[in-house]
Amino acid sequence: MSKRALAIIAAVVIQCACISAATHVVLLGTGTPAMDPDRSGPATAIVVGDTAYLIDFGPGVVRRAAAAAAKGIPAVRPENLKTAFVTHLHSDHTVGYPDLIFTPWVIARKDALNVYGPKGLKAMTDHILAAWKEDIDIRTKGLEQRWPLRVVAHEIKPGIVYTDASVRVTAFLVPHGQWDEAYGYRFDTPDRVIVISGDTRPSPELVKACRHCDILIHEVYPMGSRATMPDWPKYRAQYHTSTQELGQIASQSQPGLLIVYHRAGGLTNFSDEQYLKEIGQGYSGKVVIGHDLEVY
Ligand SMILES: [Zn+2]
Ligand SMILES: [Zn+2]
Repeated sequence: MSKRALAIIAAVVIQCACISAATHVVLLGTGTPAMDPDRSGPATAIVVGDTAYLIDFGPGVVRRAAAAAAKGIPAVRPENLKTAFVTHLHSDHTVGYPDLIFTPWVIARKDALNVYGPKGLKAMTDHILAAWKEDIDIRTKGLEQRWPLRVVAHEIKPGIVYTDASVRVTAFLVPHGQWDEAYGYRFDTPDRVIVISGDTRPSPELVKACRHCDILIHEVYPMGSRATMPDWPKYRAQYHTSTQELGQIASQSQPGLLIVYHRAGGLTNFSDEQYLKEIGQGYSGKVVIGHDLEVY
């Protein structure tokens, strides 16, 4: 084998070792309720080594995970989708829940799926399992001879909600309109601190959770956009965060990198540059507009 070929192999091995050891954010879905085929429903994977932790399961979550796995992230293969956290129970963040429960199970996942989230998660889980009862019966008792389906829903309170050898996950309440419980999450891994907002209007809790974190993943809407609700200015003020407000949040919390996701444009299609310009008016740190299947 030539020296050059050996050098290439060595570089690939070194690169793979780095990737397997480090923490990465994999954007599975950066969209909103709008059915944009380029932006799947809200879903994010925090990958630590060979383990993946999902946050939210919007429509398309399992197929986007399969696409990420095909791009070289085995942690999000279907058999590895075992731990998930949901920010709140709005349908755009949870329509993929039956997909997450059933598709990996039918194909490959033998372990239990553990899901953490607000009050109401257990009832949602029970209803989904009841709705697909005949499917479960036929797949487990019929000729498919599938292994038992196990889903464990954990209704959480603010504070540390999950720990293992790779991660400590802390949930904090965020204000999201009329929802009694909506959560943001902070992930502490061996090499990174990552905070994700879920859906929220500005709050000091999030700023506190992220103070000098490595990555802040945050929702946003642009200043010049309109939404479709009758009183959309009031709705937005109570439920979501504007680009101007996000600039302030970022300058208070000082993340190493701000990743914008779940970007609402209302009735207009705003360019990435428009979001960046508006956020940049109040913040000079590093900001990117996230797209599906990007890895950070
Ligand atoms: Zn919401
Ligand atoms: Zn949402």
